[in-house]
Amino acid sequence: MSEARLEMSADRLRANIAAVRARIAPSTLLFAMKDNAYGHGLEWSARTAVSSGVEWFGAYDVHSALRIRREIGNGGRIFAWATSEDDEIDAALRAEIDLGVGSADYLTRILVIARALGIVARVHLKIDTGLHRNGIRPEDWKDAVTQARAAENDGSIRIVGIWSHIAEASDAEDDASLTVFRNALADAEALGSRTDVVHLTASAAAWWRPELRGSMSRIGAFCYGIRSAGGPELEGLSPVATLTAPVLSVSADGVRIAIGSLDGLPSTLGGMTAGTAEGPAVIRKIGLTESVIEPWSGAEVGQRVWLFGPGAHAEQSATDLAERIDTVGEEILTRLSPRVPRVYVS
Ligand SMILES: *Cc1c(COP(=O)(O)O)cnc(C)c1O
Repeated sequence: MSEARLEMSADRLRANIAAVRARIAPSTLLFAMKDNAYGHGLEWSARTAVSSGVEWFGAYDVHSALRIRREIGNGGRIFAWATSEDDEIDAALRAEIDLGVGSADYLTRILVIARALGIVARVHLKIDTGLHRNGIRPEDWKDAVTQARAAENDGSIRIVGIWSHIAEASDAEDDASLTVFRNALADAEALGSRTDVVHLTASAAAWWRPELRGSMSRIGAFCYGIRSAGGPELEGLSPVATLTAPVLSVSADGVRIAIGSLDGLPSTLGGMTAGTAEGPAVIRKIGLTESVIEPWSGAEVGQRVWLFGPGAHAEQSATDLAERIDTVGEEILTRLSPRVPRVYVS
């Protein structure tokens, strides 16, 4: 094998999911799988999560939600939160996908399609708690809930959830978001709404701030063992993915390995280390398809070196690399190109 490879461990994904669920209980895990499950592969991640007993899945867009539905079959709840086109709404309702709704206009479009299909749409109404990305503004909230409640009464939708997304940038901001969220829940309840779930937090807030958790938590990064940039190590979690590359040649000038920026390794990572049989060795240069590492004794063609993830030598995580270039671990993983074969192991 003369190729770099990204190896994904099902055992580690399952162990992380178990640790996350234990940590957030009694809040239910919604396993977030945007960006092709953060580069790990949507189908494999869904299948592995099902074998861990996960019942809620999160896909950003309807297209990914449908792929998850095909993989897991009937049963299981799939939540897609991107505001979508009418043909996508149609496909989502037929496949029993729950839809996140962040505007009155989107709600209206869903109602029309649900009525035409004779399907009860399951919607999760989103209150904007400060991020201003997508979400019903607090001043419009009661009107939107009133509209949704009327549609609930005529049988075209069910309001199954109320949710929001928070910045996780500072505790003070998140506390302010919680206040807005609680007011929205109280308003909805006063208007007669009875939901299955409420959800506000993603990985970091769900892990560190129990008081913010709703009855459900949408967690991606930590399930894949990706810790927050600038954040501490996470007890009981380990990276699911390991990136390695084989040695192509050895000389006094350096050891060439088969991975470069075309594979998605940021060239600005030059100067970081790679793990070798002798311990960490500095990567001198990241080229297009090859990189050069400082020589170590015993280096041989065909040996593998570790770029990130659990392995025999010099462990470092995608987030460790990301921190060197001011980004996040998720980006290191999602940037890896399809040129790098994905290998799935137990
Ligand atoms: C990405 C995302 C999540 C998951 O975030 P992590 O930090 O990866 O756990 C949850 N909710 C929404 C709306 C998201 O976009």
